[in-house]
Amino acid sequence: MSQAEAFPKAAEGKLADTRLRATLRGATHTIRDRRTAVVAEVGDWEDLRELGRTVKEEALADLGSLLARFEERATAAGATVHWARDAAEACRIVADLITVTEVVKVKSMATQEIGLNEALAARGVHAVETDLAELIVQLADDKPSHLLVPAIHYNRSQIRDLFDASIAAGVDDDPAALAEAARLHLRERFLTASVGVSGANFAIAETGSLVVVESEGNGRMCLTLPDTLISVVGIEKIVPRFADLGVFLRLLPRSSTGERMNPYTSIWTGVTPGDGPQAVHIVLVDNGRTRVLRDPVGRQALHCIRCSACLNVCPVYERVGGHAYGHTYSGPIGAILAPQLTGGHRSLPFASTLCGACYEVCPVKINIPEVLVHLREPPPAEQPVMGAVSAVLSRPRWYRAGLRLARWFAAMAPARRLPWPLSRWTAVRDLPRPEQETFRDWWTRTHGRT
Ligand code: SF4
Repeated sequence: MSQAEAFPKAAEGKLADTRLRATLRGATHTIRDRRTAVVAEVGDWEDLRELGRTVKEEALADLGSLLARFEERATAAGATVHWARDAAEACRIVADLITVTEVVKVKSMATQEIGLNEALAARGVHAVETDLAELIVQLADDKPSHLLVPAIHYNRSQIRDLFDASIAAGVDDDPAALAEAARLHLRERFLTASVGVSGANFAIAETGSLVVVESEGNGRMCLTLPDTLISVVGIEKIVPRFADLGVFLRLLPRSSTGERMNPYTSIWTGVTPGDGPQAVHIVLVDNGRTRVLRDPVGRQALHCIRCSACLNVCPVYERVGGHAYGHTYSGPIGAILAPQLTGGHRSLPFASTLCGACYEVCPVKINIPEVLVHLREPPPAEQPVMGAVSAVLSRPRWYRAGLRLARWFAAMAPARRLPWPLSRWTAVRDLPRPEQETFRDWWTRTHGRT
């Protein structure tokens, strides 16, 4: 299947799944309503968004020196910093650091992006996902379908059946019972694991600290109980100052889970003797980010703080879910980030109605519609057609002649389908009929020429 057809084909299958659509609609609407309510409580929300955007822009403009400062401060505090150009190098670094057969993991988009679990499995290491939704997806041998709620495509009875067959025979489908079953299963893993693997929401250049924001407390366990902690961090997670957290810790929970404040925020700086992990490794991952940085329009995708608010308001995501996007990052942010990071996924920028809802809710004001249009460069075969359209639209006489021709054509060929190759366009929509009288003609007829 060509890259241009990947999303439309995958979406077609998902659209036919009415159970999936009902589950997605219920979940996304619940989260977005919660977000709307708590955002409305903040009088200076728009100022905060602007501040968040400014800090991210500043960080990317000075990324090289901020990363160097981060490395210097983290190393001085006892951490070991590694640099990975791509996914394969990052996985190799992490795998080389692990000498046990099981590790516990905090939910992390960066590790999903680089395929860390699969790479560790190939080396005989089982990575236990400890976030409840990630655990569900892992037990089902499935892939996450939402940045924040990876198992959003499962309903309660499906989760019960899964737990019944794997970790908790006979469990009923009461949410508290399911959570308790997961808790008992994971507690054993936390207490025996000697290695923890995490990502990070933010990396602070000023102090060399990492920050993980979460809701379940599993992250706190992974970050504090094991002897060794390995954190895989995309280089765009850097923020200049500790004080910048004051902005992002107000923006993120309200935008992601619709909470005023998230239950657990863990911040650590290197090694604290006698307390927590005594070996701390940080793997800073590029994996296409410096290429994205070179694009003056597309680089704003690197501002993303992975709140998932844009997914929850997207009419396309709501109908097809995350798997149709074919990449770790789905929804509106996935549609602009995945093509830029990979150089592939060329159909994703077209997976949008350009309604602008994603831009309105983004806490760091990423202009997703602008980037979508920017990435919708027509393929070479379409460029002559686009050139001809551009020539006609920029010359009023040609444009008027074109309209007359279109009206004549519509009268001669009443079918609302175009011949190949334009038939692909009319296969999914009716050909609009040009009005018999244009505005200009009406004006001339009723007012005379001006
Ligand atoms: S693009 Fe904005 S709204 Fe979407 S996940 Fe990233 S920060 Fe959140």
